[in-house]
Amino acid sequence: MARLNDNYLKLKAGYLFPEIGRRIKEFTQANPDAKVIRLGIGDVTRPLVPAVVDAFHKAIDDLTRPETFMGYGPEQGYDWLIETIIDKAYRPLGVELKTSEVFISDGSKCDCANILDIFDLSNKVAIGDPVYPVYNDTNVMVGRTGEADDKGYYEGIVYLPCTEENNFTPDLPKGKVDIIYLCFPNNPTGTVADKAELKKWVDYANANDAIIFFDAAYEAFITEPGIPHSIYEIEGAKKCAIEFRSFSKTAGFTGVRCALTVVPEAVMATTSKGEKVALNKLWNRRQSTKFNGVSYPVQKAAQAVYSEQGWRQTKDVIDYYMENARIIREGLQAAGITCYGGVNAPYIWLKTPEGMSSWDFFDKLLNECHVVGTPGSGFGPSGEGYFRLSAFGDRENVVAAVERIQRKWGK
Ligand SMILES: *Cc1c(COP(=O)(O)O)cnc(C)c1O
Repeated sequence: MARLNDNYLKLKAGYLFPEIGRRIKEFTQANPDAKVIRLGIGDVTRPLVPAVVDAFHKAIDDLTRPETFMGYGPEQGYDWLIETIIDKAYRPLGVELKTSEVFISDGSKCDCANILDIFDLSNKVAIGDPVYPVYNDTNVMVGRTGEADDKGYYEGIVYLPCTEENNFTPDLPKGKVDIIYLCFPNNPTGTVADKAELKKWVDYANANDAIIFFDAAYEAFITEPGIPHSIYEIEGAKKCAIEFRSFSKTAGFTGVRCALTVVPEAVMATTSKGEKVALNKLWNRRQSTKFNGVSYPVQKAAQAVYSEQGWRQTKDVIDYYMENARIIREGLQAAGITCYGGVNAPYIWLKTPEGMSSWDFFDKLLNECHVVGTPGSGFGPSGEGYFRLSAFGDRENVVAAVERIQRKWGK
């Protein structure tokens, strides 16, 4: 009989969202008239903006005529999309990139999982806690870890707690690590790192020959000036950082699928014999072999996000979500609940009242306010005692949810 990959059996079976679903189902069966408001899931709700839909339609029409039909495109993405991204998303930040350094893909989730293909298993990996679970689980799947302990920490991974004490930006690891995952603005905490904090990590990486995986999926939600949108705004980052960006949250592409990964040509790692090799070359080889590109209409739709009209419309949707975030944040604060995030990210990370556990607060919020959120402990042990609310809902529901919470916890 064929042998399976044992590493998959080390994973805690996708526990968080199924368990949330189970508890909601149980509640709604017992309370069929309750109007449950869901502020739990990290998915967008607003439709694609008109300029994007227009470009999408036009590109489909191109496929209907022999003169404009497109077959396989470049595995790395079309140059016209890459050039638009460099020009509109990076140049305004003072970041210059070459077209060969940007790779278009169908998602950041798969890119930050697939990137592990080009790294040896011996690398020591550091991951935040709480964290986007993909970073952790994909390292387990490739076999970089032992078993999980009682808390859920896997043997062999260096966990970096992100707590109130360090403003949710992790401290440098005590020992030497080779790969560091950073996500700012952060999911789940909604917090950001300023330039000085990111500089600390870039300097660490360059001093220790480490690589930073920088997940910037939420950069478009930054509202405060001076907060870096890209790791490459930090001096020295082009020598040590790979950046992941996505159209998913930025432009409502969670169902359409388009993202990009930047691998600067100066980022190097060593072979087993100690020779330095550019990771750009390996990632290009990996993508050319295992990936056949994002569809032409999707890339046209993505390009339209950065047209003048497209960006104005996209920005309006982002502003809508961020107004939701403000309503949640200020509403909770008025009820005496301590919360973080929600200023430069569409997530509010609240401290559970009266020191409740994350799951106890989940149950209370569901049973007494008919509001669903995500228990912080589901993102890692350091998330215990915290709770995530998402600003991706519609306004009416957000306002109603906040009113219910205030009725329950407000003085
Ligand atoms: C939503 C999200 C992404 C985007 O994933 P896609 O596969 O591009 O949809 C990446 N990182 C984090 C932390 C996210 O929350």
